[in-house]
Amino acid sequence: MSLLDVQNLRVRYGDKTILDGVNFSLEEGGWLMIVGPNGAGKSTIVNAISQGVPYTGEVRVLGKDVRRYRAHELARLVGVLAQTHTMGYGFTVGSVVRLGRYAYAPGLFSAGHAEDDDAVAQALALTGLTEIVDQNVLTLSGGELQRTFLAQLFAQNPRVLLLDEPTNHLDLVYQKQVFELIRAWLKTPGRAVASVVHDLSLARAYGSHALLLDGGKTLSYGAISDVFSPANLDSAYEMDVSAWMRGLLAQWQE
Ligand code: ADP
Ligand code: MG
Repeated sequence: MSLLDVQNLRVRYGDKTILDGVNFSLEEGGWLMIVGPNGAGKSTIVNAISQGVPYTGEVRVLGKDVRRYRAHELARLVGVLAQTHTMGYGFTVGSVVRLGRYAYAPGLFSAGHAEDDDAVAQALALTGLTEIVDQNVLTLSGGELQRTFLAQLFAQNPRVLLLDEPTNHLDLVYQKQVFELIRAWLKTPGRAVASVVHDLSLARAYGSHALLLDGGKTLSYGAISDVFSPANLDSAYEMDVSAWMRGLLAQWQE
């Protein structure tokens, strides 16, 4: 059974069609890269699945309609990193990460079970935040804030990660680290990832499958090597993508 199954997903704003019948599914161990030019509808997919925008079509998690789950049940299965997150309050890094544990103890998340403490400590360590655990999140750099939300997801420990540009704001070191972390996280059976990724080289290096969107429509979907053909990419981005990539790479060859 698919961990996540999306069928005929449609989103409209007024008379504008933003997603026009998108289909995909996530199987165990898979990492789907959602790619496409600005405004293609990538974030809208993430927002629809996480019930942030109205849609028609089917979104199933482990075969069950996503709308039929209670919030904390769903949170144990699917963790979402949205493209924009706002922090209105001056929580500490540690308390924001601990919110990820709410999925496991709704209503009494401050109880401080050992299992929760371990999950939080591990997530902080993985994302390099241990030293700033007591810092106010309103004072963080963009990259530190991004890592705080990723740590919250690792603490939440769902079966599916849905990530919208997870390495936005991150420098090269953390970019690499986050992609490696997710790859390692995926090695445990029963997990899958779907992520919106701008950098096509990174997407190709880490993804197993890809969904290439253009103007809310699926241009190509399947194994990443098939989707990332020069013809598909050139048509989506309206430029010679592989020539551009090779040109960039050539600068580094000695
Ligand atoms: P992507 O993440 O691929 O860059 P988005 O999913 O954010 O694209 O947006 C897809 C399209 O939907 C864009 O043209 C955007 O302007 C439009 N859009 C997003 N949110 C709204 C909204 N609330 N009202 C009207 N149009 C919107
Ligand atoms: Mg987006």
